[in-house]
Amino acid sequence: MSNCVIAGINWGDEGKGRMVDLLTEKYDVVVRYQGGGNAGHTVINEYGKFALHLLPSGIFREGVVNVLGNGVALDPENLWKEMQTVMSEGVALTPDNLKISDRASLLLPWHRDLDELEEQRLQDKKYGSTKQGIAPFYSDKYQKKTILAGELFYPDELRSHIADIMGWKNLTLTKIYGSQPYTMESIDKWIDEFCEKIKPYICDTGTFLKEAQAQGKNILFEAQLGSLRDLDYGIYPYTTSSNTTAAYAPIGSGLPSAKLSDVIGVVKAYSTCVGEGPFVCEMFGEAADKLREAGNEYGAKTGRPRRVGPLDLVATKYGVEVQAATEIALTKLDVLSYLEKIPVCTHYEVDGQLTDRFPFPAALAGAQPVVEYLDGWQKDISHIRQWDKLPQEAKAYVEFVEKSIGCPITYVSVGPERDSIIYRNTGRKNYDR
Ligand code: GDP
Repeated sequence: MSNCVIAGINWGDEGKGRMVDLLTEKYDVVVRYQGGGNAGHTVINEYGKFALHLLPSGIFREGVVNVLGNGVALDPENLWKEMQTVMSEGVALTPDNLKISDRASLLLPWHRDLDELEEQRLQDKKYGSTKQGIAPFYSDKYQKKTILAGELFYPDELRSHIADIMGWKNLTLTKIYGSQPYTMESIDKWIDEFCEKIKPYICDTGTFLKEAQAQGKNILFEAQLGSLRDLDYGIYPYTTSSNTTAAYAPIGSGLPSAKLSDVIGVVKAYSTCVGEGPFVCEMFGEAADKLREAGNEYGAKTGRPRRVGPLDLVATKYGVEVQAATEIALTKLDVLSYLEKIPVCTHYEVDGQLTDRFPFPAALAGAQPVVEYLDGWQKDISHIRQWDKLPQEAKAYVEFVEKSIGCPITYVSVGPERDSIIYRNTGRKNYDR
């Protein structure tokens, strides 16, 4: 039996989806344990290309059970639309391969409105939200002002509970933001159109996971975003509103007794950051445009151009620590093939001092990147599948990163397709599985 988390080490968009899709072959269950429809995991396989927002990335593998745990922001509308997209490409979704926790809280229709209204109010001080309602949802969850998915099985209590919350929420919508109040008619419609559709998949996933654990099944936990977006450990307030760290997996999945045997941290071979907030190693101008184009760095959910920069080893080392990563998957190495010299940010300069420690969020505005250049390889590596076949300069780049962050790099990804991967024997057990 093995419990493994796949987590982002940086700002998100590291390529977690492609790693989960690859590794699910060895797992029986894949669980999403936090976050909602605010990010996208891109998966390319025999069914086509998908940007999964809520569905676990194991959904394409026959025999894999996919679970949406209690820690996710369960948006019935987005989830049902996503399920329809996936089903329309021939992927079967049944209560046997998709299970939604009855303890997951529902993202309610006004959460998206509130997200949008607050970003508008903030104007140039906005957080860069994807406006999927995630921050209002989690605030309400912790205020106990939302609904558990399992309440859909108790329709009378559900209507009365939701009417109470709606009355309270309408005060905020109308009196603070001057917006329209919600009515029970619109809520009934939302329940019929979306909640009823996902209801057959809702069950006691805690018991399911406990039994899977007792039977020695292998469980893969799939995180969203990355260390630097973690509510407690990230670049607050430019974080997301949940814990993106591996340590949250047992809580958010519904299996609090889970002991994590492996944490695979996903690192992109260069840096990207979508939205607002400090991004010390950000590049601008032509060099940035070239890298953005080479890596096709546009948001999976919003299409927004991502901010780009060289690999930030200071942030990455911190991200590895926060995730307690046991090994690393380095993705998109192929994207750097066009560069003659490859920049890497090795240190920050803060108040005239060189440091390799990631500073407190408020100190980031004053931090300057210290950049070194490594030799590029300047040839296509996307067809290579063996470590020994990589150009010397590419191997040197990977080894430099590995040494700087202090964690073995066991996977090197050289393309978005499932098989564009190089396994590297670093002595970790994943190598032989
Ligand atoms: P996630 O949210 O961490 O799953 O990452 P995203 O899906 O937002 O971004 C990763 C993007 O890079 C997707 O478009 C992937 O198809 C693509 N990708 C992943 N690994 C590689 C790789 O090694 N090389 C290239 N060229 N693209 C990759």
